[in-house]
Amino acid sequence: MPYPQALRSDARTALLEIVWDDGTTQQLDGALLRRQCPCADCKSMRQRSSDALAIHPPASITDIRLVGAYAAQIIFSDGHERGIFPWVYLKELDQE
Ligand SMILES: [Zn+2]
Repeated sequence: MPYPQALRSDARTALLEIVWDDGTTQQLDGALLRRQCPCADCKSMRQRSSDALAIHPPASITDIRLVGAYAAQIIFSDGHERGIFPWVYLKELDQE
């Protein structure tokens, strides 16, 4: 299972940088993470509309909190804070 050695969010670039224990570094855009939020609310919204950009306006990362050893809770600038992103899920997210 992937595990992050370091998590950094840079307000200037709006990127989340993750250094994984396999030595790779991943940079994820805050707006992408907002669009891919895995919480039940966002999932059901995306099922009803294919226009993810319309239902999830661009937002940046306000805060990141660790959830146990398996995930990060990401707080977005639009006030949304229900997104729990498991490491496995983050690792599979690629930049669009
Ligand atoms: Zn969500």
